[in-house]
Amino acid sequence: MSSDHTISPLCHGEFKHFKTAILNDGILLAGFDYFGKSVNVLNVESLSEWREIVQFVEQSAAIKGVVLVSLKEGNFCAGADLEQMHDAQRRCSFQEMEQLVITAHKLFDAMERSPKPFVAAVEGACLGGGLELALACHERIASTHPRTCFALPEVKLGILPGFGGTQRLPRLIGLPAALDMITTGKTIFPRQALRMGLVEGMVSSIPSSVRTLEKIQKEILVQAAIAQARVLCSAPARRRPLRASQRFLSGPGIRTFVCRYARHQVIKRVRHFYPAPLRAIDAVEGGMRLSILEGSLTVEKPLLLDLMASPISAHLVGLFLAGEEVKRKVATVPEAATRLGVLGAGLMGAQIAGQLSEKGYAVVLRDVSSNILATAIGRIHKTQTAQVRKRIILPSDLRYRMMRIAPTIHIRDVSAAPLVIEAVSEKLDVKRAVLAEFESEARPDAIFATNTSSYTLADIAVKAVHPERCVGLHFFNPVARMQLVEVVRAPFTSDIALAQACSLAKRLGKFPLVVHDGPGFLVNRILSRYLAEAVIMVGEGISIRRIDTVAKSFGMAVDSGHPMGPLELLDLIGLPVAMHVLTSLAVLGPRVESRDALLRNFLPEKKPPLTFWKSGKENAQALDAVANYRRAYPSEANPISDNILHQRLFLPMVDEAARCLHDKIVEHSWQVDFALTYGIGFPAFRGGLLTWARQTMTPGQITQELESLAVKYGKRFDPCPGFSSGGW
Ligand code: NAD
Repeated sequence: MSSDHTISPLCHGEFKHFKTAILNDGILLAGFDYFGKSVNVLNVESLSEWREIVQFVEQSAAIKGVVLVSLKEGNFCAGADLEQMHDAQRRCSFQEMEQLVITAHKLFDAMERSPKPFVAAVEGACLGGGLELALACHERIASTHPRTCFALPEVKLGILPGFGGTQRLPRLIGLPAALDMITTGKTIFPRQALRMGLVEGMVSSIPSSVRTLEKIQKEILVQAAIAQARVLCSAPARRRPLRASQRFLSGPGIRTFVCRYARHQVIKRVRHFYPAPLRAIDAVEGGMRLSILEGSLTVEKPLLLDLMASPISAHLVGLFLAGEEVKRKVATVPEAATRLGVLGAGLMGAQIAGQLSEKGYAVVLRDVSSNILATAIGRIHKTQTAQVRKRIILPSDLRYRMMRIAPTIHIRDVSAAPLVIEAVSEKLDVKRAVLAEFESEARPDAIFATNTSSYTLADIAVKAVHPERCVGLHFFNPVARMQLVEVVRAPFTSDIALAQACSLAKRLGKFPLVVHDGPGFLVNRILSRYLAEAVIMVGEGISIRRIDTVAKSFGMAVDSGHPMGPLELLDLIGLPVAMHVLTSLAVLGPRVESRDALLRNFLPEKKPPLTFWKSGKENAQALDAVANYRRAYPSEANPISDNILHQRLFLPMVDEAARCLHDKIVEHSWQVDFALTYGIGFPAFRGGLLTWARQTMTPGQITQELESLAVKYGKRFDPCPGFSSGGW
């Protein structure tokens, strides 16, 4: 920006959530800076201020155009204010929300129709209503800042893009691409956005650390947006025509088929569990015959309000806010470590090292042999290359990421790291030996974070010289996809070790849920009851397909896009690991029965373990293994209804969750709901394990069901003392 630009206060005075400046050539620079929040949100307050600004622009002859920018670091706008929406859902009162939606539609329409150009300068996350605000601008320029991304994630909250997104997006990027974004909520990165026409320009820009209007004017992004606004002032913006193929696929003749295909894809992915993506397609299809404002008000809005009033959306928004709470509540440290160690370069260690380098950490990755390290590096490279192919990162980014990982076989190379993640083989003596090695080499204040899934922190640190620096950092597999990390605190864990571990998980973009030490912590402890019961049923001769089908019909793992029953999940975890976890959790008492005699038949000598499923079918060898077991341990194959099968899978999980609360592994039932949803794919639309249980039956009824299962199938179903009085 040239120095002749002076800043004059907007005649209307100061705003609470926007800072404004009129530049000499009549461009109004509007900096969104929602007061009191770390991200910008759209609600009654911020939208009415934005409306005042838009009206002022309309009325003032001195203003020729507008550049909208964010003054928040790494966030353009997070979308609608979900706390306000959740409050409306709790009160079942939607008049205020409806008013907000109408205001947004009229306001965005006024921007779009304005003869004065609006240009959005997008840096950071531009999500939901934030993207709809940017779509109402005449043009969008994006910066390549690592946090810049675009998405309409409303379907993940059980609603649809309700500020005109279903109307504007197909007109901008064509019907197929818009339906894909809207029905999946997928994230689009700047290079992808430019290619698909979601933004008109992209610049590499260094953000100023002081986020004032004066400072950000020097940024390349803002300069580019101002320059573009000036160009548009003299040659008014016209909507860029769609490419021929996009035009063809969005045209009246073919539109019905494209929408039918999109519905088919949605049902394939989420079955009929989630109505929002289907209603979003209705909104897109219904609105294409109308003007944007008409489509927004008469098609999109009623569908949105219906969805907002549904219990599914209330559950999904509740879980989303629980995640925000988890992130907000944890103690963190201001000083970020930049160089970390990872011990063990197997399945988990390699993934963790890849994630760390992706987020900018230098990583020393240690294993016992160069061959293992070479395999791990190859695996990380493959995953990162996929991001280059998808245009998420540049080949140079890939090179930098790989250069940040230093493989080694020497423990001394890890000695300078202030925090080390241990992901070595799940054997207690190996873990203890690795901790001892770490203590002899590491800095006196270095933190040891174990990724164990079945031992307690107390078991591992039993001989530690400095147990206070031991903490659990339990990632889930696959690390890049699973958002939950259990941060395990033992009585001896220091506050600083806990805060370091939480900070790291948060910087990796995960939800760091603090849990107390105990066998299986929270998630695996509850999961073990589900998996063990599935294996017991296989041993009784119940078909593999039937067990998994019952779990999938309930919605297990549907949110991952790959519905999965317990036996398919066992295949994914890998039988040796799963057996190990189940055996270790036998310390919980006779309620975790691991059926080793059956599973040992699945481990042929010198061959890979058998899986329950093979190429989408029940594995014939697994069926033979079950038949062998049943010959050795004959039992009557009693008929069982789907309802009892369902109860046998899910009621023990509820019982175990109540026990976890009793043992203070976590304090609140919402933490159980959150952990199981994000840790093992308990269906989010049911609101979480305990919410589902409470809404389906009374504690007394569940107690009765468990007691009758105990009579028929064994004492492992006995409910925990006090279960029937609720409180969980
Ligand atoms: P893995 O067997 O794939 O890898 C373990 C690695 O540790 C091997 O490469 C082995 O060579 C290495 N190792 C052994 N001794 C070592 C030492 N002294 N120093 C450095 N490296 C050493 O196991 P994994 O599945 O990656 O599991 C690692 C840890 O993560 C375990 O504690 C496991 O319980 C936990 N975990 C596993 C999963 C999963 O799904 N597999 C999920 C969550 C947590």
